[in-house]
Order: sequence, then C-alpha cells, then structure tokens
Amino acid sequence: MQFETRAIHVGQDPDPRTGAVTVPIYQTSTFAQPRVGEHTGYEYARTGNPTRTALQECLASLEGTEEAVCFASGLAAVDAVFRLLSPGDHVVMANDVYGGTWRQIAQVHARFGIEVSAVDLGDLQAVEAAMTSATRLIWAETPSNPLLKILDLAALATIAHAHDARLVADNTFATPYLQRPLEFGADIIVHSTTKYLGGHSDVVGGAVCTDAATAEQLAFLQNAVGAVPGPFDAWLTLRGVKTLGVRMDRHSANAARIADWLTEHDRVVDVAYPGLASHPGHDVAAKQMDAFGGMISFRVAGGIDAAKQVAEATKLFFLAESLGGVESLIEHPGIMTHASVAGTVLEVPDDLLRLSVGIEDVDDLLADLDRALG
Ligand SMILES: *Cc1c(COP(=O)(O)O)cnc(C)c1O
Repeated sequence: MQFETRAIHVGQDPDPRTGAVTVPIYQTSTFAQPRVGEHTGYEYARTGNPTRTALQECLASLEGTEEAVCFASGLAAVDAVFRLLSPGDHVVMANDVYGGTWRQIAQVHARFGIEVSAVDLGDLQAVEAAMTSATRLIWAETPSNPLLKILDLAALATIAHAHDARLVADNTFATPYLQRPLEFGADIIVHSTTKYLGGHSDVVGGAVCTDAATAEQLAFLQNAVGAVPGPFDAWLTLRGVKTLGVRMDRHSANAARIADWLTEHDRVVDVAYPGLASHPGHDVAAKQMDAFGGMISFRVAGGIDAAKQVAEATKLFFLAESLGGVESLIEHPGIMTHASVAGTVLEVPDDLLRLSVGIEDVDDLLADLDRALG
C-alpha cells in the first residue's frame, strides 16, 4: 500500500463489533477482565488504550519503523528518549535544535548527569571531533527550527554508527510524507504530532518511531513515567494524519510560491527555504526530501522594530507560536518560541521572522504579506 492509503487504513480497520469506520474514542480508564490474570490485551489506560494503539500503528507504518510509541506532547517524547540514557552518557546535539529540546537537556537531564555538546551538525568534521567514547546519541533536526538548516542524515548516521551511537532525527518539520529518516540510517525518529501530523492546531502530542526493542523500552517508560496522550487526543491526531499527504502538498506549493516572492522583496533579506536553489542545503534537501515543506524564515531590513511591526501587521497570518496547522502563522522567534535560548549558542537574529504557511489560497496569503511589508 502507498503512503496515503496507509495513512487512512493502517491500524484503522472498521470496529469489529459495530462496523464503525472511524476508530472509536475509547474513553475509559480501565478494561473488564474475563478472569483473574487474563485480559483482552488492555487492562489500564495508562498502559494501553485501543485509540492510542491505532495511532501508534499508523505512525509506525508511515515512518517505516517497526513500532511507534505516543506521548502527551513532543517534549514528553523527547524526554522518553533521553531517559534511555544513564548518567555519564553524552549527546551530540544540533546547535540550532528546537528551543524546548535544548532547555530540557540543559536544564533537566543535565542535572542527572547527561552530558551534551551543541555542535553545528552541518560541519561533519566538527561532529566527528565532538564524538567521545561516552556518546550515545547524535540528535539532529532537519529542516531545523527556525533557521531551516538542512542536515545530511545519511552522513550523520554513518558517523553515529562508527562510534556505536544512534542517530535521532526530529522529523517534525518534514513529516514522513516528505522525509523518512529511517531510509537514511536514523535509528530513532521523534515527532511533535502537535504540528503537521495533527495539522489543525487543536491537539498537543508526541511520538517516537523506532525498532521493536527500543520501542519496548519506550513503552515501559510510557507506563512507568506516565506521560500518555488521552484517547481523544490520539483520535484527533489520527484524524489529522489521514489528510497529511494532501495537506503537505499544499503547504509545500504555497510556501514555494511565497519564498520566491519574498526573495524579490526589497524589505526582506536572507530568505531561508530549503526549496530555493540558493539555500546552502538545497542539494541535500532535494536528496532526502520529496518536497520542501511549509516553513520559511526571513530577516526584515530595518532590524528588530521593523520585524515586530511586520509580525503585528499581518491579518491572515495569525501572530502565534507553533506551526503545521492549516492556518498560516507568523512569529518572532527571538522573543517568542526561542526566548529560552537567548544568550546561548542557539540564539537567533532579532530581525528574524518565521512563517508557518497554511493551506489557504496563496494569492490571499501573498496579499496579506504584501500589505504587512508595505
Ligand atoms: C514543537 C516542537 C517540539 C516540541 O513538541 P510539543 O508538542 O510542543 O511538546 C519538538 N521539536 C520540534 C521540532 C518542534 O517544532
């Protein structure tokens, strides 16, 4: 079965009892057991819930991994991966990783003895130099947030494996429709399903897609630590996933048009969109992505005040954090999503704006940007 068929069918057979064609929301905390010590496969809803199982099976199929394990948020998924480590273990992390991931390792896991080095993962010699005998993970995000840098997943997997480490790819920006990191050697794929997978800005969630042995450890953590998504959240995410393919095609087409248009605008500098031939990561992106997604960032001539003014002037692009929904959003990373990395190696330029291009009519979106920049 092809991707878009799997998105609608895997894990989602009609309900055997009633024939319901959508997976029911199993809004229950516990499951009656036929005999002492025997159960139907479900006993308590932290450990397992059929709506969550459907989502997990579908996501594993889309990423091409053996299993997927879902969590209450993307950062809960990130946390579960770090909990596979032990004190003294070392992580080589992209130096422009999602701000919340950086905050979590630097301010939470570092207290428990996990060491981290922030490295430009685009510089393979720097990656090689950062690897130690204690390195367990290379943590990559491509395209990155908010600068849309592109990393070469195959090259990073080779380095990781040569050092007995594993490559983690945060695939939130690309989604499995545009990029399947497993095909390039990644071992663990992390998602904030809050973004494109859910796709409608109405639910927070996370997932880790990986091999069966690692998934078993993650499922243990899911139950032992307890950061599970509720059944309604799993259902909303699964409903979003059904239309992932058509949405990503439209996000990508709209963003490509807008990126081209921005490069011509005299108030705009440094448009970062991996689909632009001028983007330094364009060739690698073309190799590992099927299209270039819906995220764009750019700098506004005139500095921080001009950037803030533009962000506040759009009408269709709502001024908001987050990304990946059907509606277009604009934000100022330095003050909004990336405030927690100010003063660190991850700091972003203060005249930078980030767009999450939605699936509205692109001419309306261009008119909105034209007005705001004008
Ligand atoms: C949003 C995001 C996260 C965190 O996910 P939440 O669902 O907000 O907890 C992690 N990585 C990336 C790339 C993100 O965009």
